[in-house]
This record gives sequence, structure tokens and C-alpha cells, in this order.
Amino acid sequence: MKAGVLYAPHDLRVEDRPDPEFGADDVVVKVIYNGLCGTDATEYSKGPMMVPLEKPHPNSGHVGPTILGHEFIGTVVDAGANVRHRIGERVACGAGVSCGDCAWCRAGRTNLCAHYYTLGLSTHGGLAEFAAAPSSICLSVPDSCADLDAGLAQPLAVGIHSVRRADLAPGDTVVLLGVGAIGSFICSALQSHDGPVIAVDIDAGRLEVARMLGATDTRLIPADITVDQLKDVFPGGVDVVFETSGVLGGAERAFGIVKMGGNVVLVGLNKTPQPLNLADIVLREINVQTTVAHVCGTDIPEALALLDRVHLSEILPAHAITLAEVVEKGFEPLVGGSAHGKILVDPRRL
Ligand SMILES: [Zn+2]
Ligand SMILES: [Zn+2]
Repeated sequence: MKAGVLYAPHDLRVEDRPDPEFGADDVVVKVIYNGLCGTDATEYSKGPMMVPLEKPHPNSGHVGPTILGHEFIGTVVDAGANVRHRIGERVACGAGVSCGDCAWCRAGRTNLCAHYYTLGLSTHGGLAEFAAAPSSICLSVPDSCADLDAGLAQPLAVGIHSVRRADLAPGDTVVLLGVGAIGSFICSALQSHDGPVIAVDIDAGRLEVARMLGATDTRLIPADITVDQLKDVFPGGVDVVFETSGVLGGAERAFGIVKMGGNVVLVGLNKTPQPLNLADIVLREINVQTTVAHVCGTDIPEALALLDRVHLSEILPAHAITLAEVVEKGFEPLVGGSAHGKILVDPRRL
């Protein structure tokens, strides 16, 4: 089969690979779409951060060149003996593999599993004609859900999980600091929230998309806005802030505009340590939440149900490229910041 394999930073090769091996609990899917995201772009341009190119991954055991792709859907073409999926069934893969047996799995927090690993990051994934995955993390796609929408299930599940973590009350005023990739999926996940959702970004185009995704209001801000200037944009403060930009100083902005007793959800990642006024956070009794990945068993089905109702692929918009184009029309524009909408790779077209 053909696959997109990461060898080193800026060295992703589309090459022939043996078809995936699979066990009694696995399915093999013929991939329909595999989405690319910022995590892939970071692995490609600055990695490896998560991909075990040099040292075996402690949980997956995999080491060496790796087939990327952690956002994929496909058709089941083969299955192990213990698998309940039918051949021909369309499934969305959650990509995060959990053991089902550790304290976190038993508490329903499978994204924190002690033995967690991710297909397409810690071992081979879905950027290929075929991919093997535990059937437990492959969820059936409703017949009425279009392929291009279903291809957004994994990143939308990440957004849905973030919203669960926010502990929203009806009527809460919510601010999204940044409506790029993850911010737009959180905005989508907030569609059923009963209260104002205000999208904040430095890019007018993103704000326009956020409105179509359900943001009730938007604010265009300059990239160098100070915390005090941002406070003036939200006099009195807001109930819940999602910090999705991941920029240096983003967390400080979030804490700056949240009301006394409000919630801040830290979503965006920035590995550079940043100073925060903890005394202010404590004295105003701010709730700090964090969020990572998604809980496959609950968040992927909810994502698929939403995608069946709302055609996100048309709003973002999502578009497909071939596997042969993955570097030139996928990774390079993502890294360079010129990518428009969501890019999905269709490995059926070589
Ligand atoms: Zn992703
Ligand atoms: Zn576990």
C-alpha cells in the first residue's frame, strides 16, 4: 500500500509499505479521509516531539519512521476474530488507544490512560491506503453522514471534550481566545450552549467562520493587544474563557478577562514557561481547567451525531487532496500558515 511516512523533520515520504498487520481485536480500514492538523504540522516542521523516530514509545513499543495520521475514517475491509464490526461498515477512528483496565480507564477518563498511545503519533496511523486499529476505538458512522463531514469527527471530539471540561452553566457568557483550528471546533461544539459565545481573533476571516459556526458575536483584536486593553473589550469580565490561541501571554489574557469565580479552560499549548499572577487567580477564586485529546467512547459518537446534523465540512470549509500532494498541498501550507480551511487527505486517490 502507499503511505505517508515521517522519517525526519521536513522529510515525509509517500512510499510503498506492507499492508498493516492486525490482531484479534483489530479492524483494518480502507482509509477514506485522513485529516491533517497543527500537531502533524509541528511534528513535520519541528519534530519529532511525539513521534518515536529514535527511541521506542513506552506504550506502543514502536520506533522508527512512522506513518502519520490520527484523524481518519474508513471502511472496514478486514477484522480480527473478536471484532463486532461488519465488513463494509464505515467507521471513524478515535486514534487514542487506552487499556481499559487502569484506574483512569475505569473512571471513564480513557484519554489519561496509564498506557495511552496515539495512532499516527506514537505508532503507525491513517495517512495511508489502509490502517489497522483496535475495534474498540472505531465508532460506526451514521449512514446519512457524508464522508467529508465524518472526516472531522476526531478534531470535533477534541472540541467537545474541551467544552465538557468547561463546566458551563446555562446563560454563561463564553469567550474563545483564538478561533483557528481547535478554536473553531470548540465553537462548533458550543452550538447547543444557551448563552453568548464571543469569538476573539486577530484574523477577520476566522471570525467570519466562527460566526457561521454559531458564535453570537466576534471581536477583532491586534496581535500585540495588552491584557489591560483586552479587559477594556470585556468590561465586567466574562464567565468562561477558553484559551485556544496557545500564544505566549494567552493564558494571562484569559485570566485577565474572566470574572471573579469564573472558569478558564487552557487548551492551546505553548512549551515556553510563562509568568502568571497566581495571587490574583487565587484571590478571585478562578477555576482553572485543562483539557487534552478526547474520551473516545463518548466524544466521538457525540461528534458524529453533530456532524450528521450540521455540515461542518461546508462551513470550515474542508477540502481533499491526494496522498501524492500531501507535502506540497498539505504540510507546507499548514507550516507556512497559508492553509485555508481544513485539509483532508484522500488516499484512495494516489
Ligand atoms: Zn489532530
Ligand atoms: Zn488505561
